[in-house]
Amino acid sequence: MPLPPRFPLALLPTPLIEATRLSRALGRKSPSGEGPRLFIKRDDMTGFGFGGNKVRGLEFYIADALAQNADVIVTGAGPQSNHIRATSAAASVAGLDVVAVMHDSRPAETQGNLLLDELLGAELRFTDSTDRSLVDVKIEEVAEELRRAGRRPYVIPRGGASALGALGYVECVRELDTQLRAMNVRPDPSTALREASPWDRTCWIVLATGACGTQAGLIAGSKIDGAPYRVLGITVSRPVAECVERVRQLAIEAARLVGHAITLGAEDVMIRDGFIGPGYGIPTPEGVEAIRLVARTEGVFLDPTYTGKGMAGLLAEILSGRIGKDETVVFVHTGGEPALFAHAAQLVQGVPAVPSP
Ligand SMILES: *Cc1c(COP(=O)(O)O)cnc(C)c1O
Repeated sequence: MPLPPRFPLALLPTPLIEATRLSRALGRKSPSGEGPRLFIKRDDMTGFGFGGNKVRGLEFYIADALAQNADVIVTGAGPQSNHIRATSAAASVAGLDVVAVMHDSRPAETQGNLLLDELLGAELRFTDSTDRSLVDVKIEEVAEELRRAGRRPYVIPRGGASALGALGYVECVRELDTQLRAMNVRPDPSTALREASPWDRTCWIVLATGACGTQAGLIAGSKIDGAPYRVLGITVSRPVAECVERVRQLAIEAARLVGHAITLGAEDVMIRDGFIGPGYGIPTPEGVEAIRLVARTEGVFLDPTYTGKGMAGLLAEILSGRIGKDETVVFVHTGGEPALFAHAAQLVQGVPAVPSP
């Protein structure tokens, strides 16, 4: 079954870079003295509206919204949401308005993604409540209000996660396969292993998991293509049990949308806990340390909400030896850099260590 229609936004394929300096730096501290073969999939460079993972899913959402003759997109998330920023940028190109519901109150300073939302002309409605599920209720209320006013709203669920949006990462697995194969056929005298096929070694895909659509798409894509990736999500937002259930459901549904019935065992949905810290969107010392390490080894910027915490999770796997030198890792850089600027003070002054709840 073919993919549903897409509204082109992303510059694909995104680069796959080998992070040899980061791998060496980690290797020195790991039990074997050597890091895994480590790649970064630069989905921060999807190339549209400051990039990030949300752009891939938006290609499907925007095409669907236009097919349904919508004139306004209603969605929601937090004040530093990459999803709302990318959605607002996509809507600008498609000639659609955006009304976005945000939890919490309007921050004193308009920085990072919030600044970009303002520049893009999105209408922002704050719930003035920390209860994130309230955003789901408000999204429906706003859509109803717009319908009554004669508008044609198209709702994208909070955080942008649905089976349709997850198709962006079903496709990304194909893209990654091609890139990994291309990089492995090029022999490199520095290690004999480089000539091996990627499947001769355990190949991990590691990412930060929030609303779960990205991990679901990667798992569905791996299953559909028969690619034996081990997809490991580091949760930065929800409890593990909730993530496992959401990833499972979204992966099965996404596969069904493209005509595949997949079954998932417990080993297919791997979520690691312990890196959220005091809460979603609050920087942690390990996350900030990961941001500095990756900047200082690879010149690549991670973000404090997702990829910094996700990388902290990957570093723990490597430093403990759970991911070893004979394995390959692809860390998906899902974007989010604009949030760096909204957390400047904490990034410079450091953040207190507070255990995860
Ligand atoms: C949204 C987001 C994620 C998480 O993706 P989900 O599909 O919501 O799990 C990870 N990193 C960044 C930068 C994001 O914006």
